[in-house]
Amino acid sequence: MAEIRVMVSGVGGRMGRTVMGAVMEAGDMELVGGVDPAYRRATLSELMTGAPEIEVAETVVEALAATGPDVMVDFTRPGVVMGNIRAALQERVACVVGTTGFSEEELNEVAGLCDEHGTPAVIAPNFSIGANLMMKFAEEAAALMDYAAIIEAHHENKLDAPSGTALTTAERMREARGEDFEHQQTEHFGLEGVRGGEHGGASVHSIRMSGVVANQTVLLGGPGETLKIEHITTGRECFMPGVLLAIREVRRLDGLVVGLEALLMNT
Ligand code: NAD
Repeated sequence: MAEIRVMVSGVGGRMGRTVMGAVMEAGDMELVGGVDPAYRRATLSELMTGAPEIEVAETVVEALAATGPDVMVDFTRPGVVMGNIRAALQERVACVVGTTGFSEEELNEVAGLCDEHGTPAVIAPNFSIGANLMMKFAEEAAALMDYAAIIEAHHENKLDAPSGTALTTAERMREARGEDFEHQQTEHFGLEGVRGGEHGGASVHSIRMSGVVANQTVLLGGPGETLKIEHITTGRECFMPGVLLAIREVRRLDGLVVGLEALLMNT
């Protein structure tokens, strides 16, 4: 079977380099190019030992023309990802997108472009298999237990809080439950903000500190018992099985698929 030709957008970034390594190690894929305006004079081999001697392109349009990939993988930034997706779909190149921060309107636009160009895309805010299972289990438990709290911890450079995964978990739990969780109000505070944020009665707490990649604990409470669902990441490689799965599956999909779960449940 022909190897899947993969082009990585954001190839100089933390995730881009990790994806580049994973694609190079996958026996059924070929790394054919990369885009990153911050590294436009470099070659892929300068970014990672063992990578091909291919010059990093400045734009997706340039890279698509030079490399003719089957799939573009994008881990860039909220402000630029839409332009990259538009360029790829216009050339009928399937997209696997890990960049976070899409609005509802942007997702609708991508879905429309997928249909217009007959080209599929996967956008997953979390490619970790464990994190996706955590959300699924939390959703199941939410219907049966009355109290919920989500505690997430990320590295000190994360700019947004709570994490997209924590918010999605809270939204999915609330939806599965069909009503708000029990949430007693505190009458006297010794310290402002100690009860955290709140979504649908579930409290959400965000911790930012060095030494952490991305962790989340979901606590559910009922009379005389507590259920704890904990997901711990120790490195960015946790995202790679999900990214490789999406690269392998995306061209068999119809239109836009949001989230990894649909792909995981089909394997
Ligand atoms: P990073 O800042 O290390 O890397 C982003 C790279 O994109 C930079 O090298 C930058 O120069 C490059 N870039 C900027 N504009 C570009 C453009 N127009 N075309 C191509 N490249 C461009 O960030 P990171 O830690 O690698 O994270 C990237 C994104 O992935 C973020 O949105 C982050 O939240 C997300 N992320 C998602 C998952 C997931 O599982 N979906 C996991 C981790 C991170």
